[in-house]
This record gives sequence, structure tokens and C-alpha cells, in this order.
Amino acid sequence: MKHVVIVGGGFAGLNCARKLRITLIDKKNYQQFQPLLYQVAAGFLAPSNVAFSLRNMLVRHANIEVEMDEVVSADLSTRTIKTANNKTHHGDILVLAAGSQANFFGTPGADTYSYPLYSLHDAELLRSRILAVLEAANRDPSLIAKGALNFVLVGAGPTGTEMAGTLGDMIHHALKEEYPNLPLSQTGIYVVDMGHAVLSAFSDKAQAYANKMLQQRGVKIHLHTAVKEVAAGHVTLSDGSVIPTHTVVWAGGLRASDLSGNLGIRQGHGGRIDDEPDLTVASQTGVYALGDFANITGKNGEHLPQLASVAEQAGKWCAKNILADIAEQPRKPFAYFDKGIMAMIGRGAAVAEMGPHRYELEGPMAFISWLGVHVALLSTTQAKIEAVVEWAWDYFSEVKGDQVLDRFSQDQINWNEDQAAAAPLPTKTATKA
Ligand SMILES: Cc1cc2nc3c(=O)[nH]c(=O)nc-3n(C[C@H](O)[C@H](O)[C@H](O)COP(=O)(O)OP(=O)(O)OC[C@H]3O[C@@H](n4cnc5c(N)ncnc54)[C@H](O)[C@@H]3O)c2cc1C
Repeated sequence: MKHVVIVGGGFAGLNCARKLRITLIDKKNYQQFQPLLYQVAAGFLAPSNVAFSLRNMLVRHANIEVEMDEVVSADLSTRTIKTANNKTHHGDILVLAAGSQANFFGTPGADTYSYPLYSLHDAELLRSRILAVLEAANRDPSLIAKGALNFVLVGAGPTGTEMAGTLGDMIHHALKEEYPNLPLSQTGIYVVDMGHAVLSAFSDKAQAYANKMLQQRGVKIHLHTAVKEVAAGHVTLSDGSVIPTHTVVWAGGLRASDLSGNLGIRQGHGGRIDDEPDLTVASQTGVYALGDFANITGKNGEHLPQLASVAEQAGKWCAKNILADIAEQPRKPFAYFDKGIMAMIGRGAAVAEMGPHRYELEGPMAFISWLGVHVALLSTTQAKIEAVVEWAWDYFSEVKGDQVLDRFSQDQINWNEDQAAAAPLPTKTATKA
């Protein structure tokens, strides 16, 4: 029987694995549901609602062996990979689906002082950071003038927009009763983006709605503006203004995970591996690249976006092409079925463009659709039930569950707070909204 090695147990790798006799290697032992990470960061969902054990999900698939290890390099000509634990795996077929990571575009200080939102660990760290600055400001109100209640989101795409709106709901509704002495009205939530609009992939109407919903939640939007520097205690923008802040969330872009630089082949746009139309890697025999790790071509020759639905469909398609390889049949070029896009801006507010014809919804109907789609996408029945209960409770009660700051997280974030306190504050502060 042919042996298939898959690197990455995300949407793409997992959907491919379910169809074959394989070894699935991932540096984590769980699949994370990235579309809901910001809900973990805002404390609306528990980590267990968005992370699913790979072993548990695949327990009934005797054809799949799971190994937790990090792949550090690969020789594509022999389809041999090396791992951080000095193990070597050889496959007749190799599937590279190692996903993506934050792209800081060389912005000074961004990798040190900002909080990316691309993994469960990131989401838990950010949640702890938000709670820690609220606690610090509650203890010592003089920190507010130094930006403790300012939150800067870099990037006005779905991640930045969803996080900003949810943060607005969290601060102005959910936490009001829990911090009665904290002047939460002095909170500043800023979204900064070089582009011309929030949610630029959506229609003008959806963008206008998203703007309105964000502004209703007290979010200040800086468009046509780049972040020039992130430092301990402030960010500097390209228009020269400075926002004092202790919490910068990086939702500014993606690049392929580090493995793509250790394959000995040319990296395409975003550090990703350029795919042939049938999802194979050019000039390599028996090597596929999928999901966020690859530049996958759509029907008009464009690169498809880094979306869960693209990764999921590519995973299933790849499995069919591998079966065709084994049967010595021709592979088929990948055909993506566009199910549309959606974003949740806050409680009861969302935009959705459904299906390939982009039927537009906004407001409560889009919010209900968003809930339905995301519940359906969650991997286990338990997670679906828990998420519905959590969302229903948040929606009808307006009061959040417990916001717990554990000791471990507190230790992790103190370094930044100490540095922020020590750093001299710049004199010019942002006034533009
Ligand atoms: C915050 C956020 C919100 C999003 N919201 C949406 C949304 O609303 N709708 C939507 O359609 N898409 C959304 N996306 C995009 C979507 O989550 C991704 O397109 C999708 O997860 C890609 O799947 P993947 O399998 O390619 O990669 P991933 O899901 O990232 O999986 C890659 C796997 O590879 C593993 N890995 C990486 N490097 C190595 C290595 N060297 N060795 C071993 N294992 C490795 C990782 O641990 C991971 O498990 C969002 C993404 C983010 C970050």
C-alpha cells in the first residue's frame, strides 16, 4: 500500500487524511478553529470550544497514524522529511499543509510588542493581556493616561474588524458591571489599516454597514494609515501620530509557516508554495501543497484567498487526486466552489455575502447565518452544543461568564507591562478619528 505523509493537521491536512492510509504529523496535538479565535481572546468562548484533539477526531480511522512533532525540513525529490525530534519519514506521496503565521512586514517592534491572533496560544495570551491591563488600570488609574485602556488593532480585514467589534461589546457591555470603578468610557479602540476600507473584500454596502457598527461600539478607524513602529507603551502611525497603548493586536497579514523556507524550492507570494492547477508542486513528483501553505489558483487564474473553505475543499480534492495517482488515472484541476464570505462585527451585527453570486445580508439575518455556519463548521457535537449555549447566554444576558486570569498567563505578560511602564511616553498623541 502507498504511504502518504501529511505535514499539518489543519482544515486541509485533516480533510485529505480522512481519505487515505497516512501518517499525519503536526507540531500540536489538536486542530484549532481559527475563525473563532477572537471569541476566545474576548472571553466569549472557552479554548476547548475551538480546539479539537487530532487523535480523538481520527480515533475511528485505523488508516491514520498521528504523530506530534515539528517538521523542520524536507527533501522533496525523495519526499523525505526531518523533524525537530530527529525523526525521518519517507512517503510515496507527501502533502504539505503547514498553514500560515503572522506577517509583520518588517515593522519595527511588531514581533516583540504586538499580539498576533493566529493560534489558540495567541488568543489565550491576548485574553490574558486584555484582562491584565484592565486589572492594572483598576488598581492604578494613572495608567489610563499612559494608554492602559487603549487597544490598537492593526489590520481592518475580518480578523481586525471582528476583534474590534467584539472588544467594543466586551468593554462597553459585558465588563461594565464587573469593573464598576473603572472609567471604561475612556477606553480607546483603534483600527489602523493602509487600505481604503474596512473589510475590503466585501461590497461597498457591507463596508459602510461595518463602519457604522464599529463606530457605534466606539471604535476609531484610521484608514490609509500604516503602523510605522510598535514599541513598549505606544504605536507610531505613518501620519506621525502616536497612540499610547499597552495592547497592540496584529491582524495585519499572513505568510506561510517557516517550513516553506526549508524546502529548497522557490517561495511564491506570501512565502507560499505555488501550486499547479491539480494542487501538486511544480517539478516535484508526488508532492502536494494545500491550504494557507500554498498559492492555489482559481478559475480565472487568480490566487484563491486564505480561507477555511478553500483549505477544506483542497484537502478533499487532493485526496481524490492521490487516489487517481494510485490508480494511474489523470489528476483533475482543482475547482473551488465559492460559498461566500461573512464577518461578525459584534453582538447582533454581521455581514454576509452568500454563495457564488454573493447574495448580500446584513444585520440580525446575517448574524443568524453567521451563527449557523460557524456552529456547523465546529468539529465535534459537544463543541457545537457548548458554543450555542455560550452564545445564547451572552446574547440574552449581556453579562459575560467569569473572566479568569491564571497565574501562568500573568507571568507571561508581566515583562511587557514592566517595559511599558519604564518606557518614556511620547508627547504627541493621536487625535484623529
Ligand atoms: C484569526 C483568523 C480568523 C479566520 N477566520 C476565517 C473565517 O471566518 N472564515 C474562513 O473561511 N477562514 C478564516 N480564517 C482562515 C482559515 O482559518 C485558514 O484559511 C485555514 O485554517 C487554513 O487551513 P490550513 O489547513 O491550510 O492551515 P491551518 O489550519 O493553519 O493548519 C496548519 C497546521 O500545520 C501545523 N504545522 C505548521 N507548521 C508545522 C511544522 N513545521 N510541522 C508540523 N506541523 C506544522 C500547525 O500546527 C497547524 O495545525 C481565519 C484565520 C485566522 C488566523
